[in-house]
Amino acid sequence: MRYVIYARKSGESEERQILSIEAQLAELQEYSAKEKLEIVASFQEAQTAKEPGRTKFAEMLSFLQEGYADGILSWHPDRLARNSVDGGQIVYLLDTGKIKDLKFPTFWFENTPQGKFMLNIAFGQSKYYVDNLSENIRRGHRAKLRRGVYPGSAPIGYLNNHRTRDIDIDPERAQIIGKGFELYATGKYTLKQIARAFKNMGLRSQKGNVLAVSCVQRMLSKSFYYGLFKFKGETYQGTHEPLITKKLFDECQEVMKFRGHIKTRKAEKTFPFRGLLTCGECKCAITAETQKGHNYYRCTKKREMCSQKYVREELLTEQVKNFLQKVSLSSQDAEKILRELDKDEQKAKLDNHVVLQNLKTEITDIGVKLDKLLSAYLDEIVSAEEYAAQKEKLLARKVECGEEIREIENGSVSWLEPARAFVKSLNHATELVQSGDKSEMTTFLKQIGSNHILFDKCISFSPKIPYKLAAERSEAGNSHLQNPYWRRVWDALGTFFAQVPNQFLV
Ligand SMILES: [Zn+2]
Repeated sequence: MRYVIYARKSGESEERQILSIEAQLAELQEYSAKEKLEIVASFQEAQTAKEPGRTKFAEMLSFLQEGYADGILSWHPDRLARNSVDGGQIVYLLDTGKIKDLKFPTFWFENTPQGKFMLNIAFGQSKYYVDNLSENIRRGHRAKLRRGVYPGSAPIGYLNNHRTRDIDIDPERAQIIGKGFELYATGKYTLKQIARAFKNMGLRSQKGNVLAVSCVQRMLSKSFYYGLFKFKGETYQGTHEPLITKKLFDECQEVMKFRGHIKTRKAEKTFPFRGLLTCGECKCAITAETQKGHNYYRCTKKREMCSQKYVREELLTEQVKNFLQKVSLSSQDAEKILRELDKDEQKAKLDNHVVLQNLKTEITDIGVKLDKLLSAYLDEIVSAEEYAAQKEKLLARKVECGEEIREIENGSVSWLEPARAFVKSLNHATELVQSGDKSEMTTFLKQIGSNHILFDKCISFSPKIPYKLAAERSEAGNSHLQNPYWRRVWDALGTFFAQVPNQFLV
């Protein structure tokens, strides 16, 4: 069966919300591809259907009457006719067999007496049309969302292109914003300092205002800049060009999380371990106070009876240093491991094609998973929240895979960077033991693990896997018969990072 496409939009204000002709055509083309319809011609016009006498509509009807096509594909019956004359003509052509079928993405039509009856109602029913308005707005957004275009005004650094309806990079502002992300990722600057830097570099909003600190914070947490965006709680992969990598974005989020903790920097200087520990008996926070020139830490005992006693800070410092010593690497040893890493890098480059293949497979798998997720959502097997959350996770991973692929193609090996960062942090532990900076120790402990507990005057916590391995290798003894510590660390970690580098970053 051969179909003609018919799209129409009038200039009337009441129809302002209806899909543009371009959007109707996009929807119809997608629909025809999905339904495998053969399209032989397309008619479009911008004229009201309230009164008879549309030229393109008349052309289409004679095209059908002459037998060049068998059916019409249109967005909704109200696009074809909104008066009884035009509606009657369509029905007459159906009755005489000149038109064999009508297809609408928004309306189910069957060429039966009941079908024609329903069609007649749809032609005449303006209430239906009004009811359909909100659905059409949603679909207008949907057309953009499907193209991966954010259906609102572009965030700073981008511009809405009103001609192509895409979102383009704003070359002047984009460069400054990219710089801002880079500065913030170093962890050396506060949001306020970043806001000031933006001001000095001449960054202004569309309205010409200097960006407020809250604005800068919101900006630095927008996934839009690395390629995803959220609309009504759902995440989409944008087709706009990213300003930054997801890696840089993640680094900024880490800094923000960390900086959020150090508002009370002063209090931390006085009581460096405050805010780190919770009570192992009653799960309350551990607080601190000074008695006779010594710092003491104790359970706040806010919830229930708790038998835990005061602990002197010196005792805690000793325990922390003890742990740090276990994961300490001297600068020389760190150098040795870093050199081994360089060798591995050479070797790994040869194996890269396997990794590339795996990443590409993963991207394909994600596509399949997204499809399944959507069906599960449409079949109401998963809730809207679940759907949104899962989709966001899958899309984020997809972007990550894409970045890893590009990195590998540019010649770097993805797991080496986390491994290098890890080795450097082991060397940092040595520095901490030497400097004795307790609030830095707290920061370090927070970064390398979680669930820090104080129980019977003893600190315990769950270190991230590589730190756990490093500590275990250290405890395994320092016998001269064994490999040196750095060797043992390296043997244990080489495999870990090559297999699950992302675990380290979580
Ligand atoms: Zn307690």
